[in-house]
Amino acid sequence: MTTEPAREPPPPGFRWPDRIRAAAFFSFDMDAEAAMLADHPEVVDYLDVIAHQRYGPQVAVPRILRLLDRVGLRTTFFIPGWVAETWPDLARSVRDAGHEIGHHGYRHESVRGVDEATEIGYLEGGLSALDEVLGVRPTGYRAPSWDMNFRTPALLARYGFRYDSGLMDSDHPYRLATGPGPDAATLIELPCHWSLDDWNRYNYVPGLTGTGVIGRPSEVVAAWAEELDAIVAVGGIFSLTIHPFVSGRPARAEALEILIRRAAAIDGLWLASGDEIAARVEGLDLPPVHHARPDTTG
Ligand code: ZN
Repeated sequence: MTTEPAREPPPPGFRWPDRIRAAAFFSFDMDAEAAMLADHPEVVDYLDVIAHQRYGPQVAVPRILRLLDRVGLRTTFFIPGWVAETWPDLARSVRDAGHEIGHHGYRHESVRGVDEATEIGYLEGGLSALDEVLGVRPTGYRAPSWDMNFRTPALLARYGFRYDSGLMDSDHPYRLATGPGPDAATLIELPCHWSLDDWNRYNYVPGLTGTGVIGRPSEVVAAWAEELDAIVAVGGIFSLTIHPFVSGRPARAEALEILIRRAAAIDGLWLASGDEIAARVEGLDLPPVHHARPDTTG
């Protein structure tokens, strides 16, 4: 079987390994109760909402680990530090299954409008929790809710992260500069998009999140398969963001497994974890991209 060339030329300097024409990054954000508590602190008293979120650690994560074992996929779980502390045995089961553990905040905090000391506190809180519970120093970061400010990339570099996954300005991984100058530190960015997130396809908690329209699993993965085929055609990265409490329900997990098996059957598509993809891209001579804050003073 021959690998088809990409439909479009790749960005300057960009090249996948030989015989690879695109990558698929099936990533899991193990939010448990943390995302809902961060967005809606009042739910700490709502048993119904907390139980809805606990479906993730209680049922969905073990099911997804079995699924990943069946399909033979090692990938990345982004885990808020507080979730690792709250569900330590579960977090260790993810680590012990061989998956990469990435940073996902401490309590899934947004960094919009916070000062630098506060943001550093979130970063350090997540790092120390992952260290204490798992003995892991993560190299990958995914911002909770993908919220970032213009300071975040430099802080990530300062704390030794090698890649971020969450910006939406590219079809391909790229080298993200943390400042404007030629000496600024860089990270690898593994871009994402809202179209490839299960939350807005399925999740509904009345009055708190979602529209009440709950996608049919076969139709949701059909939409993702269209995105996958088109990304493969341009030689990019398909980053699917999956929340266990959302996609770990039986029909959704079954549909996800069908999608992963479909991806694995695509000639030249590399299914890999974030650290594997970032390590590959780090070796390329890519021009750094610096995102400057827009100048609105003129
Ligand atoms: Zn999250």
